[in-house]
Amino acid sequence: MKVAKTISALRTWRKNASTRIFLVPTMGALHAGHAALIRSARKAVGPRGCVVVSLFVNPTQFGPKEDFASYPRPLRRDLAVCRKAGADVVFTPGVGEMYAQDRSITVEESSLSRALCGRSRPGHFQGVCTVVAKLFLAVQPTHAIFGEKDWQQLAILRRMVRDLNFPITIIAHPTIREPDGLAISSRNAYLTPIERSRAPRIHEVLQCAAQKRTPTGIERFARKALSAIPGARLDYVEAVEADTLTPLKSRKRPGRLAAAVFLGKARLIDNIPLLVLT
Ligand code: AMP
Repeated sequence: MKVAKTISALRTWRKNASTRIFLVPTMGALHAGHAALIRSARKAVGPRGCVVVSLFVNPTQFGPKEDFASYPRPLRRDLAVCRKAGADVVFTPGVGEMYAQDRSITVEESSLSRALCGRSRPGHFQGVCTVVAKLFLAVQPTHAIFGEKDWQQLAILRRMVRDLNFPITIIAHPTIREPDGLAISSRNAYLTPIERSRAPRIHEVLQCAAQKRTPTGIERFARKALSAIPGARLDYVEAVEADTLTPLKSRKRPGRLAAAVFLGKARLIDNIPLLVLT
């Protein structure tokens, strides 16, 4: 497995690389969710293709009061996870490699980014789009894999690829969960044991709410039940159309039920599908 720290090292490798390249962008602190994405890329790319994983804690997607400085960066462990899951190349740029000090160009999606997490994390998706566009240009993959755990991010990046004509196929990977249903996240490490024991309630509530027949009924039930989790502070819970993220009007169209909940120091997000009811 090759480790590339610079874009120029990546470009040198890229010149002789195979034609099928799957990119798995991550911020490191790899867990079973990331490993599943890498393994799935390995399987899908075929024996002669290449899997590239990027490990980069992207400063521009963190707000001023968020956890950029304290975000875990266990590089040696991450490289071991990449190797075991089947990566060929790991791209580990420093901040200075990715961003010029006087940078003045960004990529902004101006519709889907306004919904859900975009309301409480202004600038977050601009940071995500900008860094993913830069990773796409640095690696030049044919495919890129993203987790459904970050549904809004997935929808926005699909839009970016469509609107900017990136010649890249986006692949969605289902959310990997702990046995008790909690979506696996690097931020779960911030939970105290008691908060950890309460966190699976988020997924349980979403699943119960999804049984209701109307989007209003779903949201009403979920809002009440999520707010009732001891120590939790609800950021949002919304039933939205799966691709446009606009409010879901009825269950005649595919939707997504998405929530963000603060539990102690952690802000946990999760989402599930709302299948069409006949
Ligand atoms: P992150 O390191 O949090 O930026 O995540 C990198 C990629 O892994 C993103 O595409 C995430 O959606 C995906 N991911 C993170 N957690 C999970 C999970 N539990 N299941 C599936 N994909 C995940």
